[in-house]
Amino acid sequence: MTAPVNKNAAAKGGVALDAAIFDPVAFRLNDEQAAIVTRARELGQTVFAERAAGYDRDAKFPIENYRDLHRSGLLGISIPKEHGGLGTDYQTYALAAAEIGRYCGATALTWNMHVCSTLWSGPLADDLDMDAATRGEHERRRAIHYKRIVDDGAIYSQPFSEGGAAAAGGVAFGTEAKPVKGGWLVNGKKIFASLSGHADYYGVLCTEITGGEKASRRNTLYLAVPAKADGVSVVGDWDPLGMRGTVSRTLLFKDVFVEENAALMPRGVYFQAAQRWPHMFLTLSPTYMGLAQAAYDFTVRYLRGEMPSTPPVKRRMYPTKQITVAQMQIKLEQIKAIWFQAVSEARANPSKEQVLRAYAAQYSVMEGANELATLAIRTCGGQAMLKSLPLERIYRDSRCGSLMLPWTAELCLDRIGREALYEPGETDD
Ligand SMILES: Cc1cc2nc3c(=O)[nH]c(=O)nc-3n(C[C@H](O)[C@H](O)[C@H](O)COP(=O)(O)OP(=O)(O)OC[C@H]3O[C@@H](n4cnc5c(N)ncnc54)[C@H](O)[C@@H]3O)c2cc1C
Repeated sequence: MTAPVNKNAAAKGGVALDAAIFDPVAFRLNDEQAAIVTRARELGQTVFAERAAGYDRDAKFPIENYRDLHRSGLLGISIPKEHGGLGTDYQTYALAAAEIGRYCGATALTWNMHVCSTLWSGPLADDLDMDAATRGEHERRRAIHYKRIVDDGAIYSQPFSEGGAAAAGGVAFGTEAKPVKGGWLVNGKKIFASLSGHADYYGVLCTEITGGEKASRRNTLYLAVPAKADGVSVVGDWDPLGMRGTVSRTLLFKDVFVEENAALMPRGVYFQAAQRWPHMFLTLSPTYMGLAQAAYDFTVRYLRGEMPSTPPVKRRMYPTKQITVAQMQIKLEQIKAIWFQAVSEARANPSKEQVLRAYAAQYSVMEGANELATLAIRTCGGQAMLKSLPLERIYRDSRCGSLMLPWTAELCLDRIGREALYEPGETDD
């Protein structure tokens, strides 16, 4: 009898714990990073994995997981320590999110929307230019949001998509914020709003419209609209192929009054971030890094005859199985390598090479996770894709990665091709 692959000797509650996707020694993580990533992995494996099938079957939001994320401190993973959070940097968050995605894609993807509200207003905003008064005001406002999360377990979401070109970064958001005394009146519509009906605050990107001014991306505001505010409604049904637990329905805003403290970033700072901190859009990828690992883990266990509730038939002696596993392992290591490098170099004003690598990493993870899940189904066979096992959910969830704006797989190809061949401002005229 050989030892189970990819397992630590450590066991918790009778469950042999999986090894980390990114071994802390091999990938040179410090002790604090390793401890936080381990916390996420253990919660994912010992608690979230078992609940995932139910959320998927019923297209139900994983609210119980959010209570656990709050209890474990992970709801405030990127909130600065002085505000009561874990104070992680971008890379540490990404590694922890990949571990959650390995066990429940919908939890990891929605947790990403929540965490980005704090990552973007926190360490990312700290890298951007603001005068002293604006920074002071931002500090005061973000403390309000962070306290709600740390003390009360408040959940934030990120509904940006509107069905037009705005979420891809092409034009100004159609959702409008009109300045009024003490705040803004918000009107508009957001589609695919993950956490709809479950978040306490919707972190809405909208365009501030003053006087007769034309809508401009420079005037983008990032406002945390209270879910219970008058004029907010959730409409439409939700019965998609994958990522069913994200509950990404449509949000309508009709003359919603939002107070000034709702601003998650000061005026002009979101626009600056989108120009100077492009890795902010790579944050949807960790979920799918986890799903890629999950497809591989499943295949090895299944072919070794170690998957509970499956016939104890070993298939590993067939050369075709071994070749497919080899191909999957190579693909997984390629994805891990480019993704780890990309999340490690997230910063303000990255070089052209770093930006191209970030697009390439996003493309590799989003397409690669589904390629691995496809190979897993082909080589494990019919019994492996029954709904009693996680593989078919991994397959469906992983298909959604390429669709996430603004860096869909197609748009990454567009950007790489264009930006590799043209320097800023260059034309063929
Ligand atoms: C499970 C799930 C959860 C989601 N959660 C959220 C969320 O919480 N918040 C949020 O804001 N959004 C969310 N989205 C939405 C997502 O980011 C996209 O906005 C959505 O998938 C776009 O769908 P669409 O049909 O309108 O795409 P379209 O915009 O019509 O695009 C269709 C395809 O055309 C391509 N395309 C788009 N624009 C261009 C262009 N300018 N040039 C060339 N090609 C282009 C892209 O490859 C895209 O895949 C979620 C999506 C999914 C699937």
